[in-house]
Amino acid sequence: MNLDNCPRCGKLFAKNFRDVCPVCIREIDKEYELCANYLREHKGAIISELSDQTGVSIKQITKFIREGRISMMNAPNLSYPCESCGVLIRENHLCDACRTRLTKDTRRALQSGQPDKQSPSSEQQKNHDGAYRGISQYKDR
Ligand SMILES: [Zn+2]
Ligand SMILES: [Zn+2]
Repeated sequence: MNLDNCPRCGKLFAKNFRDVCPVCIREIDKEYELCANYLREHKGAIISELSDQTGVSIKQITKFIREGRISMMNAPNLSYPCESCGVLIRENHLCDACRTRLTKDTRRALQSGQPDKQSPSSEQQKNHDGAYRGISQYKDR
């Protein structure tokens, strides 16, 4: 079993396909319900209003939007903050200004030959095949 601390509440839980513990999954579902209900009644709500009225953090609402759980098609005034500068946007993770800057930075990094800092996920590091081969070798003896 792959135990990990829940990033939301800090409790230890068995990691599966979700990255938070079962208690938090339920809490997040509840928060989603609150947001969805509020938006049904107030289609013109903006994100700060939605957050104030439901008590759900802007960060979590942003997540709902990114996951496609909250549809911006039905909420014409809803937007979420740019990951870099916090300006309110309605598409991508970053505003136009930050995207342009980032593209330039990436190009510069590539030219100077810097390695990709992204580390492989823990899933990829596990070697299921290796363990299996070990067992069959044992049986052959
Ligand atoms: Zn949790
Ligand atoms: Zn930005």
